[in-house]
Amino acid sequence: MNGTDIVLDVQGLTVDIATPRGALHAVRDVSFQVRRGETLCLVGESGCGKSMTSLAIMGLLPKAARRNTRRLAVLGEDLSKARGRRINALRGSKMAMIFQEPMTALNPAYAIGEQLTEHYIHHRGASSQQARDRAVELLEKVGIASAGQRLAQYPHQLSGGLRQRVMIAMALMCGPELLIADEPSTALDVTIQAQILRLLADLQAELGIAMVLITHDLGVVARIARQVAVMYAGQIVEEGPVADIFSAPRHPYTQGLLGCIPVPGRSAPGEALGTIPGVVPSLVGELRGCAFADRCAYAQAQCLTAVPIHGQPPGQQWRCILGAEGVPA
Ligand code: SF4
Repeated sequence: MNGTDIVLDVQGLTVDIATPRGALHAVRDVSFQVRRGETLCLVGESGCGKSMTSLAIMGLLPKAARRNTRRLAVLGEDLSKARGRRINALRGSKMAMIFQEPMTALNPAYAIGEQLTEHYIHHRGASSQQARDRAVELLEKVGIASAGQRLAQYPHQLSGGLRQRVMIAMALMCGPELLIADEPSTALDVTIQAQILRLLADLQAELGIAMVLITHDLGVVARIARQVAVMYAGQIVEEGPVADIFSAPRHPYTQGLLGCIPVPGRSAPGEALGTIPGVVPSLVGELRGCAFADRCAYAQAQCLTAVPIHGQPPGQQWRCILGAEGVPA
């Protein structure tokens, strides 16, 4: 691996949303990189900023939101300066997004064949036949039988699982190098969830793309990713290799999250699962020190001032006063 393997480079990303009570700091100084062929999971409770992070990368934030960043680059191209047609072109060709609810992205008024081929014709200058062939190839790749006949169907004629497969095929049409999947299986029933996640993992490995997978489910992280970033209150509080973080979580919030799910090798059979007491703090107005302090059993006065980051990439890093030994370092 070297610098040229970096597909997505995010440094110092913040997203503020104007509210009548002041700015809501939805994403706070978030930095990470994703390399070719790598999957990074952004994990956290709802409202922690993970979806806002993905929308900020894609340039799809709501109007009331303002993005600031020291660096936001895909394949070396600075996205913070890309506007209008250029950002549309990048979204169509180099990066693509899969949403939790496929109907967010699928237009109910058009047959899926039209929706699959439109961008390909536009961005690749392909003929209708070439685009149709590509659509059939990808529908088959995502496991849709009778792909040619499906092209004439409308989204409402497909099940939720099939719609999500169509969304994945649509995202892959132009051969993106970065795929952002925001809770892609959450709206589906459990069996279909597993199939969609397996499909994404297989496609990611086969195509060698960089993937950011957003989820609230640590079970998904364990199955899919090698790298994980745990978000809380708009910040990454711990990140690094999944194996390291699952075996020795350093941040009390990560420890709490892992205590809420059965983890092979960590949880004894029949062991009661935990909960994290308290609620996520308001992100409106000035925020000082550690946002987890109200819920943390180890909180002390210094947590309310500056909180250091321990560890070095590519290893485990965490934002806490506690060092690797579990005491203030
Ligand atoms: Fe807990 Fe303090 Fe660490 Fe925050 S900085 S997680 S309050 S020990």
